[in-house]
Amino acid sequence: GAVIGILGGGQLGRMLAMAAARLGLEVHVFEPGANPPAAAMAATTVTAPYEDEEALRRFAEGVDVVTYEFENVPTSALDLIETLRPIRPGREALRISQDRLTEKDYLTGLGLNCAPYAAVDDAASLDAALGRIGTPAILKTRRMGYDGKGQARLAHRDDAPAALEAMQGQAAVLEGFVDFSAEISVIGARGADGRVACFDPGENVHRGGILHSTTLPARIPRAVTADAVLIAGRILNALDYVGVLGVELFVTPGGLVVNEIAPRVHNSGHWTQDGCVIDQFEQHIRAVAGWPLGDGTRHSDVEMLNLIGDDVEDVARIVENSHCALHLYGKAESRPGRKMGHVNRILGPAGGAPREPGR
Ligand code: ATP
Ligand code: MG
Ligand code: MG
Repeated sequence: GAVIGILGGGQLGRMLAMAAARLGLEVHVFEPGANPPAAAMAATTVTAPYEDEEALRRFAEGVDVVTYEFENVPTSALDLIETLRPIRPGREALRISQDRLTEKDYLTGLGLNCAPYAAVDDAASLDAALGRIGTPAILKTRRMGYDGKGQARLAHRDDAPAALEAMQGQAAVLEGFVDFSAEISVIGARGADGRVACFDPGENVHRGGILHSTTLPARIPRAVTADAVLIAGRILNALDYVGVLGVELFVTPGGLVVNEIAPRVHNSGHWTQDGCVIDQFEQHIRAVAGWPLGDGTRHSDVEMLNLIGDDVEDVARIVENSHCALHLYGKAESRPGRKMGHVNRILGPAGGAPREPGR
């Protein structure tokens, strides 16, 4: 079997490593930070900055294929790794998803709908963007944002100076605020043979910019489900993608609007661990190892709840509910906003009526 290298040792890397272990595949992790959650599940962990060429070389030469749980790996590190081993998903998916502006240009170029957007570099370009897009709007840094970090909401044009200030000099993009009825996401997978398999769309609730819950089934008509899956398939094929991709969508009366994509396993796909026979982590490992994709059919209705910060103190109560599958990431300390684990609560066999998602 292939030896898998994972760039990034967070909880996503940990759960990828667990899936690989179940398939009998050896995993090596590269992670700059100390005490990465994935280390416990990996054969070795290289702790070094992405600038350390010697360490990167050692890591890459010990594996057959390199994947990642983190899309913001510096380009220089990827350039070096690419001379040694294949990177899956490929460089194009990383290049596009590292920059919100590039990503939106790419998605609209595929004929998909995004919120109205414009590049913002300074007060003048923000003023011009607001003139075109209006308010309410959201200003987001083009690079490195996650969990709603690096974003500022503008209710009125007067909010422009404060919003610009919040970007701390970084290049940004202004987005029109989408008046959505729901947020959903599709976790799609594409194998090395070009076959595509998508999981059912889940309905997401965010709190303070951080994912709070994902509920299956989403409260959307069948036609919207089909549309969401077709959008994911279109992106996967256009990128000649190998692996799992997360696609976040807004449901609006005018159809689906793509919020963003993530070229990796995704928090809103954690429900698949207990809702499907083959979950997103196994699907990703199968794809990058060149194996056939598994069947991602959903067997259960599920609600995934993130355990953020102090939420993790409720563990004793959670495990008293025998329908709750607990997944903890092995992080030593909880901090506000830090993802400590998640719970998949089984609601019943698939096919039940959609429920109000967990708020
Ligand atoms: P992550 O990568 O962790 O999902 P992020 O920092 O990239 O998060 P976004 O997905 O861009 O952030 O935004 C976080 C949430 O803010 C969205 O899920 C949505 O609830 C809300 N939001 C973002 N952009 C818009 C928009 N244009 N209109 C309405 N709501 C938005
Ligand atoms: Mg994001
Ligand atoms: Mg998001």
